[in-house]
Amino acid sequence: MTGTVLVINSGSSSIKYQLLEPATGTVHASGLLERIGEGVDAPLHHTAGDTVHDTTVYATDHSSGLRAVLGAFAEIGPDLGDVGIAAVGHRVVQGGDTFSGPVLIDDEVIDAIDSYSPLAPLHNPGNVAGIRVARELLPSVPHVAVFDTAFFANLPDDAATYAIDTDVASSYGIRRYGAHGTSHEFVAKAVAEHLRRDDLKQIVLHLGNGASASAVDSGRAVDTSMGLTPLEGLVMGTRTGDIDPAVVFHLSRVAGMEIDEIDALLNRRSGLKGMTGQNDMRAVRQMAADGDERAVLALAVYTHRLRKYVGAYAAVLGGLDVIAFTAGVGENSAETRAEVLRPLAFLGVELDEAANAARGDGIRRLTTEGSAVTALVVPTNEELEIARLAIDLARD
Ligand code: ADP
Repeated sequence: MTGTVLVINSGSSSIKYQLLEPATGTVHASGLLERIGEGVDAPLHHTAGDTVHDTTVYATDHSSGLRAVLGAFAEIGPDLGDVGIAAVGHRVVQGGDTFSGPVLIDDEVIDAIDSYSPLAPLHNPGNVAGIRVARELLPSVPHVAVFDTAFFANLPDDAATYAIDTDVASSYGIRRYGAHGTSHEFVAKAVAEHLRRDDLKQIVLHLGNGASASAVDSGRAVDTSMGLTPLEGLVMGTRTGDIDPAVVFHLSRVAGMEIDEIDALLNRRSGLKGMTGQNDMRAVRQMAADGDERAVLALAVYTHRLRKYVGAYAAVLGGLDVIAFTAGVGENSAETRAEVLRPLAFLGVELDEAANAARGDGIRRLTTEGSAVTALVVPTNEELEIARLAIDLARD
């Protein structure tokens, strides 16, 4: 696994990147370019070792954007020529039915990723643009696509299938694809290594701005909360999660809302933000502490949904060994973890309140030694997972 990897996460108007060593996890440089193609000076934040470089660049599209990023490497360092990149790993959101693992990128792969753009209109077009430019600018290095959906590509049919007309489903590719798969896979593998067991029944809770749960049996994903798109499932920063689809008909017929308006309402103005005006968990917690009743209710809805998924997935798995918390809220909010775990004593969860309240790096146990179910905090690292997968494939 030796060799340096450049990981690129190219969004619709941003490029996030990291230059790292998959063998050790050492990060040589990282950065974020935003507001590509918005007709304004695009802010570029580049960090290399102790040097933090903030500037604005000319980035009318992904091509000029990535040129600016490579310019930052040339100017601030590290020099990519000296480093000798062994692979470029690209995060791709939607891999549809085609990709159940990482692939070396060629023209056909790009076309296939592009063909899934209707399923991820906010993400795949940006991913494709980034891949095209990166291949052009770094032509002698293998480029690897790592898919957010891959870990869930082989969900059992009963979990992946929506109960709608089969012809409609197959004509329009309607099934559960999931998302955040790279994080769920990274965490599930880290737990198995940490506990030195491959036969674990795990529930992984990725609680960031977007949030998702997965049920993992002996390393294989058997269910996940995100569906055709990342809108389904848990309550999120700005997304509803599960909702009766008839709400959409009601808003259209009774409120006279257009479909794009409803899309924006459910994806961008719902969840914690819709209920409280704030999408950030810290802000919502502060509001609740100050006595804001909307925030108190929003937190109750948030944790109720989480407990519901934990109960459902314990049933799907037919038992439970581990609950793993990850991402911004999962790693940092002891209150959220306690609110989920305290009522689960009946499942064999014995929370260690002091351990849960303690801060720390790395994997941490939240339950007592005697607890039948082990709850853990497992810091996620999607970039490292992408780099590992990319170098493995590039070296084959
Ligand atoms: P993204 O999905 O954007 O990658 P993150 O994984 O960074 O999101 O998570 C962002 C969320 O984590 C925000 O809601 C933020 O409030 C929350 N968070 C970060 N630190 C804390 C903390 N100390 N306590 C509670 N919530 C936190």
